[in-house]
Amino acid sequence: MSNASWWDRARKVMPGGVNSPVRSFKSVPGDPLFFKSAQGCRFTDEDGRSYIDWCLSWGPLILGHADPDVHAAAREAMDEGASFGAPSRREVRLAEAFLARMPHFDQVRFTSSGTEAVMSAIRLARGFTGRDVTVKFSGCYHGHVDSLLVEAGSGLMTFGTPSSAGVPKGFTDTTAVLPLDDTQKLADFFAARGDEVAALIIEPVPANSGLLVQRAEFLKACRDLTAKHGALLIFDEVITGFRVGPAGAAPVLGITPDLGTYGKIIGGGFPVGAYATRGDIMAHVSPLGGVYQAGTLSGNPVAMAAGLVTLQKTGRPGFYEDLERKGARLQAGLTRAATDAGVTATVQRVGSLFWTVFQTEAPRAVEAVDGSKMEIYGRLHRGLIERGVYLAPSGWEVGFVSAAHRDEDIDTTSAAVADVFRSWS
Ligand SMILES: *Cc1c(COP(=O)(O)O)cnc(C)c1O
Repeated sequence: MSNASWWDRARKVMPGGVNSPVRSFKSVPGDPLFFKSAQGCRFTDEDGRSYIDWCLSWGPLILGHADPDVHAAAREAMDEGASFGAPSRREVRLAEAFLARMPHFDQVRFTSSGTEAVMSAIRLARGFTGRDVTVKFSGCYHGHVDSLLVEAGSGLMTFGTPSSAGVPKGFTDTTAVLPLDDTQKLADFFAARGDEVAALIIEPVPANSGLLVQRAEFLKACRDLTAKHGALLIFDEVITGFRVGPAGAAPVLGITPDLGTYGKIIGGGFPVGAYATRGDIMAHVSPLGGVYQAGTLSGNPVAMAAGLVTLQKTGRPGFYEDLERKGARLQAGLTRAATDAGVTATVQRVGSLFWTVFQTEAPRAVEAVDGSKMEIYGRLHRGLIERGVYLAPSGWEVGFVSAAHRDEDIDTTSAAVADVFRSWS
């Protein structure tokens, strides 16, 4: 069976042939590849071709595909039972390892996805504060939580219009959407409505509409204004947690949020999300308090085992320094490829997160991203597939460097990018 024949079968039985929309290659040319197997930084598709993977399941695989230690731990757990729906030791161990890295939080609750973690954190913030309004920023993605699927780009005090069909207006009219990188608009909003705000949620390093690195002053304003008005600050660290540093972005930025949401890396490739906070806030979650939240498979032992080994391995000395060095090497290689070919591009990077945008400067707000340039990304994506390199199938998505990428994989990728760029001139 080939990629093409699986794709024909997939489209008959699943909407758009996929279980998550970006996988369908709607924003790049060609049809999706069907992954057959993967190891380290490479995967093989159903046509039998091999690729260097810079998408890595959208972030969870910081150790690369099929890490032998992660798989051994997951197998061992599975042999003792795939799911208990009851307390078991592996969830305690992962919670302890998680909190050892997060001195600013007292407790954590595991869920089965990042979306669930965010949904639960918002509910907790509302239950704790007794307020309804949530502030989010255009361009930040927080999973497919109904109340956060709100139109981007609205101005000051524009309350939400759902950006997905099937979300009632009433679900989003307590969500205020503000632009990133605009401290004045944020201050004006809090001056007018701050006392109604339950929570402000932000990706501390926004990485879902490209990589929109924020100024320290803007993030500090998020902290100061929420504190001043008795609202909670939620850092959505589903991507950045254990990615941009041993604990995530909060310690790197020197800002302590009230709540943090996690996912991706903490499951080591299995479905896990988590939210963490102080004891006085967590005391409001059931069974201790009145904020209900539950999950049949939450704390699943196989997923907990994979997450624990992943955290342990990222805790080894030099782990993040090595990722930083590799990220810098890739950034330099891609930048040189563009410069040499006369292609206008900026490679933005934070540690092992990278993003190529075909503009002269890296934007800080989604409104500053030139959407018309995504067509260039599509051509790059196609050209790289032909050369055995796989990037995320959308120019709005970031790339991920893993511990499994070696210098030669980085250099092979830079050479392939240079070759694609040269073929355009
Ligand atoms: C991926 C992501 C989510 C959603 O997580 P899922 O596991 O896909 O539900 C939420 N927030 C951010 C910042 C993410 O990157």
